[in-house]
Amino acid sequence: MPLPPDCHMHTPLCKHASGEPVDYARRALEVGLTEIGFSDHSPMARDDFDDWRMFSNQLDEYVEKVRKAQRDFPQLTIRLALEVDFVPGHEQWIRDLAARHPWDYFIGSVHYVSDNWAVDSPFKLSEWKHRDTFEVWSVYFERLTMAAETGLFEIIGHADLPKKFGHRPTQDCTPLYESFLDATKKHNCAIELNTAGLRKDCREIYPSRQILELAFQKGVPITFGSDAHAPNEVGMNFAEAISLAHAVGYRQRVQFAGRQRQVSAI
Ligand SMILES: [Zn+2]
Ligand SMILES: [Zn+2]
Repeated sequence: MPLPPDCHMHTPLCKHASGEPVDYARRALEVGLTEIGFSDHSPMARDDFDDWRMFSNQLDEYVEKVRKAQRDFPQLTIRLALEVDFVPGHEQWIRDLAARHPWDYFIGSVHYVSDNWAVDSPFKLSEWKHRDTFEVWSVYFERLTMAAETGLFEIIGHADLPKKFGHRPTQDCTPLYESFLDATKKHNCAIELNTAGLRKDCREIYPSRQILELAFQKGVPITFGSDAHAPNEVGMNFAEAISLAHAVGYRQRVQFAGRQRQVSAI
């Protein structure tokens, strides 16, 4: 069986990744992938929102870099996508982005639990000391649920990102997960198995097995992504991700082209 597509990878335009799309494509072929998708961090309406994404006027350059990889590697299917930050109030901006190019899919991700704190930022780690962990997780999952409800995204990214540095609440988060996954199912979103978590302090795929089990019970489809920020990370730890998917019962995964879903066996 072919490996699932790696649906989540970045480019240097986001200012914290290295290697050109052609380098990621070359690596994808080396590790035996037949399909990949670029999903770099989308621009925000305001370029000074933060400093870890492409500027708004670089969107065409991004698309051209992906097109070049498509031209140079015709033997590999390469999708054009974005990892779009969901921040409440930004919905119209996201619709505007959607209209600018013929995207294959949008990954909706929450990094921000307030306008100035991205929970995964290594530069804002001290913020955790001033916050209640459960409160952060609650806000995070409320936003993730809102993201699914917008209907603007095919895939919801790294669903339990707040665990990145090991901050896990002692309270039971099941109700948060249930609400999120119910919205995901209702609005026809997939969630991704994102192997980047294995490379972080949490040492665990996003999302956790508990969330994935609930997702399977509710019939929420899955995709796979390395969240590669360097060519050597393409397809990384996919064997573990596939094992996890199988262990909770998944026998199918989905992929997207032209914002249409296709189902395949895993
Ligand atoms: Zn990134
Ligand atoms: Zn992300």
